[in-house]
Amino acid sequence: MSKIRIENVCKEFEGSMAVKNLSLEIADGEFLVLVGPSGCGKSTLLRLLAGLEQISSGRILQDGNDISLLPPRERNFSMIFQNYALFPHMTVEQNITFGMRMRKEPKQQYRARVDRVAELLQLGALLNRKPGKLSGGQRQRVAMARAIVRDPSLFLMDEPLSNLDARLRNEVRDGIMTLHQQLKTSTVYVTHDQMEAMTMADRIAVLNNGDLQQIGAPETLYAHPANLFVAGFIGMPSMNIFKLPCQSAELWVEDQRIALPDTEEAKNLSEVYLGIRPEHITECSTEPEIPEAGYLYLQASVTHRELLGADYLNHVSTSLGGLRYLRENRGEAPQKGQQVRLRFSLQDLHLFSGTNQQNLHRETHHA
Ligand code: ATP
Repeated sequence: MSKIRIENVCKEFEGSMAVKNLSLEIADGEFLVLVGPSGCGKSTLLRLLAGLEQISSGRILQDGNDISLLPPRERNFSMIFQNYALFPHMTVEQNITFGMRMRKEPKQQYRARVDRVAELLQLGALLNRKPGKLSGGQRQRVAMARAIVRDPSLFLMDEPLSNLDARLRNEVRDGIMTLHQQLKTSTVYVTHDQMEAMTMADRIAVLNNGDLQQIGAPETLYAHPANLFVAGFIGMPSMNIFKLPCQSAELWVEDQRIALPDTEEAKNLSEVYLGIRPEHITECSTEPEIPEAGYLYLQASVTHRELLGADYLNHVSTSLGGLRYLRENRGEAPQKGQQVRLRFSLQDLHLFSGTNQQNLHRETHHA
């Protein structure tokens, strides 16, 4: 049982703030993913949790106890890094038991734990091998075994998949998820890859410039991004975003009116960001005489297309500007230069303030 609470934590390095007044909670057994672009402060936050860096202000609590000043070895957290340095001259078993041997724990005390972890990670047959004779995935499993054998109350993982090739990455990712389902140890996992975050997380915390942008279930972040940054960061291919003029809480796309939410804030805006995901745009095969209510229509010309496998990502020019949409790789896909008529539901539109970039629907979506 371990609940971690980060309260108003700041970390300053030589006058610049790497983590800015950040608060969040990690529930018992939760898999929380910290995601954001390079330099956003995710590794720093992980190192603050581990005790490898001192917080500049704020507190870190574990089950209500302030652990902000505890040295790393007294926190009982295990860290797994992207460079999972194993000792090359030691066997797998010696690598796994290194910490226990250093602490001079009697062998009979940890023998059963080592066997259990070896079984869990399918390392039983490899215990006497040296790391040089293991595959990349097996080495990563040894690093995990070494972290797990301590039975930590929190796992801290810093991009553990980033040095692996695509196939191995999937294998190790599945291994981490299976392990989490079995052990249910609270985990904080750092990545810059939103896809990894979406597939692994119970909840995702999106960081940018040391600021927490939004925290929530992957589905929530995808459907209701709190601001323009999260909208552009979460989702692959990324959302189409256009900055458009608006007046009296309405904007026009060609001759079609889009009403902004009926709020004072929206009425005072002169610009708005309109977002639509490539997967929410469809081609209309025939031009309806009367456009269907609740949909927006756009005339478009294909500039180029990318084959992704099951789908094409079509790039088109429209009156809004360049736009991308996904189209099934079936039948006759439109070619470069071809005219297409596109439509999307107004329900799939995302609207953000032109001034503070916050989602204009945020009150309703957070209710
Ligand atoms: P990446 O994905 O590239 O690892 P990150 O999101 O993990 O990036 P951090 O490593 O946490 O980012 O860095 C956040 C900011 O703090 C960066 O601007 C970085 O240059 C700065 N920083 C990190 N560690 C130190 C340090 N020891 N001394 C000075 N500045 C630092």
